[in-house]
Amino acid sequence: MPKPSCWTRPDVSQVVVGGTIAESGIPTLGISSAIDPGNYGHEDTALVLLDLLSAAAPNPNSLNTFLGPQSDKIGFIGRGLGNIITHEIGHYSGNWHTDQFEDTANLMDQGGNIAQKPFTGFEDTLDTAAWGYSRGLG
Ligand SMILES: [Zn+2]
Repeated sequence: MPKPSCWTRPDVSQVVVGGTIAESGIPTLGISSAIDPGNYGHEDTALVLLDLLSAAAPNPNSLNTFLGPQSDKIGFIGRGLGNIITHEIGHYSGNWHTDQFEDTANLMDQGGNIAQKPFTGFEDTLDTAAWGYSRGLG
């Protein structure tokens, strides 16, 4: 009997890392299935695509654009992918985008064009995620 996939287990959310825009049909670097204030859904999925992130430089979406001959390539790519993966988990943990033009950097800063930001207001990303994960499952 095949082992059950993590996709069908209760209380398991996941991030799929890999694939392309053409394969997913979603023109993005990363996307989450939900913005879930309170983290009430425990079976969320996010997707981080690698085609633009691994494109040849110069490409503003490619990690290769920011690498030089002396760069710590493994460390930089690990941190870059980790930041994007964490950003998508932040969405299904309840966080909206924050303003990427503020002085304080935040993993929930929006990429792209701020004019497309549909919501405004104060976002406390640390407490939103902490509250979403600190409650019991019952
Ligand atoms: Zn986002």
